[in-house]
Amino acid sequence: MRRCPYLEELVKERTGPLRVYRFDCHVDHRSKRKYSFRDSPPICVRNFEDCELYQVEKRREDGTITRYTD
Ligand code: SF4
Repeated sequence: MRRCPYLEELVKERTGPLRVYRFDCHVDHRSKRKYSFRDSPPICVRNFEDCELYQVEKRREDGTITRYTD
């Protein structure tokens, strides 16, 4: 499974017909929840490159690496 390198933890729970995805993001240090009636994991384990937080952090890291190698 593809997963965002900044994803700290992903837990899937079921409450009746509802799926609850709990996930922690290393970028904003927040615990988030996503609710769905069908299997629909968060962006962190799908197209995480589209996530704005991912893009900001990746750019920051790439900038750091460039400074070290210059
Ligand atoms: S995809 Fe976005 S919200 Fe999910 S862990 Fe990565 S940076 Fe955080």
